Amino acid sequence: MDPVPLFPQPVDTRLTHLHQTLLTRYGQPAPRVQRDPLSQLIYSLLASRTKTEDSDNVMRGLQSRYATWEEFRDAPLAEVEQAIAGVTFPEVKAPRIKGALMGITARYGSLTLDFLAKYRTDKIREWLEGFEGVGAQVSAAVVNFSTLRRRALCVDANHLRVTQRLALTPRADAATTETRLMRLVPEDWDAAMLDEHHSLVKLHAQTLCTFAEPKCGACPLVERCPFGKKTVGQV
Ligand code: SF4
Repeated sequence: MDPVPLFPQPVDTRLTHLHQTLLTRYGQPAPRVQRDPLSQLIYSLLASRTKTEDSDNVMRGLQSRYATWEEFRDAPLAEVEQAIAGVTFPEVKAPRIKGALMGITARYGSLTLDFLAKYRTDKIREWLEGFEGVGAQVSAAVVNFSTLRRRALCVDANHLRVTQRLALTPRADAATTETRLMRLVPEDWDAAMLDEHHSLVKLHAQTLCTFAEPKCGACPLVERCPFGKKTVGQV
């Protein structure tokens, strides 16, 4: 039995408040179509700094052009780059994606990530992050959004901006911010709830808390937001 603490620890409700406020503002996000882990890895590598619509279009194009991911892996690099030209930085992403697909095949013996389901979440993420271009954001997306459905919080540029403006955690990179935010996540939030939280924060980042022109005067979080209070002149 765990020792009973002498003094009860205060419960940090900031993420619960953020989640409920965004849920009230935007409603329930559309349920995610869960991909197998390999398809999610490819999608996440494509999607970095790219509009969702463009990533979706390129992913659809790849799936109609190649009958299998093995065919895509074996295509010449110039063809891969051309096939993903609809996302940002195809010249950087093409060698990374091709390298990851070849690396998975070399390490596992075939091109699949389904075997990861047997492993602990931290081991899966460490394994994925061994590939060039796969950082905390991509590994979190693979374990949380795919059929692996593990607890992780995908902190992308949108998520980072909102949490930093709200001063939920000290300013830091995405990996450190995820670790700090996970300490604030209520224990009963499962993988689906973390996915929903990510979707709500992303929606907020794209709707009101935009990079260039945050609409703080219309934001339901302004009373708790140091950046927003400064912007609307409340401090
Ligand atoms: S008040 Fe402004 S900066 Fe703060 S979360 Fe809202 S839109 Fe973003």
